Amino acid sequence: MVVVMQERATEAQVEAVVAQLLEMGYAIHRSSGANRVVIGAVGGGHGDPALIGVREGVHEVLRISVPYKLASRTFKPENTVITIGDVRIGGDEVVVMAGPCSAENEAQVEASAIAVKRAGAKIFRGGAFKPRSSPYSFQGLGEDGLKMLRASADRHDLKLITEVMEIAQIEIVQQYADILQVGARNMQNYSLLRELGKVRKPVLLKRGLSATIEEWLMSAEYILAGGNREVMLCERGIRTFESYTRNTFDVSAIPVVQQLSHLPVIADPSHGTGRRDKVAAMARAAVAAGCDGLLIEVHCDPDHAQSDGAQSLFPNQFDQLMAELRIIAPAIGRSICVASVARRGWGR
Ligand code: PEP
Ligand code: MN
Repeated sequence: MVVVMQERATEAQVEAVVAQLLEMGYAIHRSSGANRVVIGAVGGGHGDPALIGVREGVHEVLRISVPYKLASRTFKPENTVITIGDVRIGGDEVVVMAGPCSAENEAQVEASAIAVKRAGAKIFRGGAFKPRSSPYSFQGLGEDGLKMLRASADRHDLKLITEVMEIAQIEIVQQYADILQVGARNMQNYSLLRELGKVRKPVLLKRGLSATIEEWLMSAEYILAGGNREVMLCERGIRTFESYTRNTFDVSAIPVVQQLSHLPVIADPSHGTGRRDKVAAMARAAVAAGCDGLLIEVHCDPDHAQSDGAQSLFPNQFDQLMAELRIIAPAIGRSICVASVARRGWGR
């Protein structure tokens, strides 16, 4: 860190700061400009920099290294590529994960899986444990939902991502899922993150509703520090003063995180906007911005969905979007999997 002293700081105040930094284990480089002293503190120091910031005579303390280590590009300059069977996340291909917000019944899960497979998605999404704002809303089907999701994913050669909300669910969710999703509301559930550090399956960590990018990376650090190095970060919109959209989809987070971290960055334009008519535009923007994957809600009958119907795409809208993304991705040196079956005109 760099400690900038006030113009009128006394020598005694400077020496007191230096003494505390030395006690914290830093090596000190002191320089005196025309009217103020600047102290560089380097090395493996410990202790809270805020303690220096509140000392007499200190103007400001500037941090020069990031507090997350394992998640940072300094620690690992090359991109992390997560491999699940024949799917590689973080490589040249933009991997698309799609499916309904929730598993509701066998027919709905199966019809949604058929639709997303046909359009070229490689990973099926769907929630069996749902974090809902209201305790009276549909909470998910639990293990029955997991069974339906797994069966349809297997039938259509799709990998499966689904949310785990609490430590007690990890065991059961990892029996069915290929990727464990941590929802926005749980981004700072540190005991859950710690337990996920012990799991040997990839984790997709959503950004919290009002989390800064640094807080988000610190949460990833919990999982990495626990020993699980397969973490991907998902931008899903943050809460702002704007009310035309459900959340404000922070496209700029994609290049920012990719510069700071080696972890794959996934974009979720469905929760990011909350409105079906805005999802395609933000998905296109996310691919153009360089995301490594997309998480999109697609439902076989969104008008009757039990959760998030208003932001879920109809299958034919998803077909159309995938076709557009296949044109955008090559412009930035990326690719998107081709559709598996010719369009048949599902839904609207
Ligand atoms: C979801 O993916 O359906 C979900 C609940 O996401 P989030 O945690 O981003 O709200
Ligand atoms: Mn949802």
